[in-house]
Amino acid sequence: MKNKHLIDSEIQQFAFDESECEKDVVEHMSSCSLCKQRVEDYVLLSTSIKSIPDPALGFDLSKRVLMQLETSSKKKPLLDYFVYALITLSGLLVGFCVACFSLFCINWFKGNSTVSMAFIICIALSILMILINDIMKSHRRKMKMLKF
Ligand SMILES: [Zn+2]
Repeated sequence: MKNKHLIDSEIQQFAFDESECEKDVVEHMSSCSLCKQRVEDYVLLSTSIKSIPDPALGFDLSKRVLMQLETSSKKKPLLDYFVYALITLSGLLVGFCVACFSLFCINWFKGNSTVSMAFIICIALSILMILINDIMKSHRRKMKMLKF
């Protein structure tokens, strides 16, 4: 038999599952009124907690979440189409520049500065389109984080 009073975990185990308690705990409970009172308190507390009704929200949470999901799914394709249009536009621009200056490609190796400038402009525009695409992706990600 335990000479000391039971600790909280032993009291709780006795209150909710007496069959799993050690023999010392059960013997102590048969003789100690203080520990019996603590067990009764735990049982009373548990009963009162179970009697509390589940909390109810003042609004329909699932409806609001669904509204957010529908709104975000409608906006997403428009942004995607815009990004794809920008990428396609940059590709067409590069192709156009290459086609326009294809006559001067032979002079490229001879050091013609017009072809070099056109090539540099095409690369700069391509990099600009890629950066715009990246900025739009990060903007869309941040807006998505703000909505939810
Ligand atoms: Zn005790």
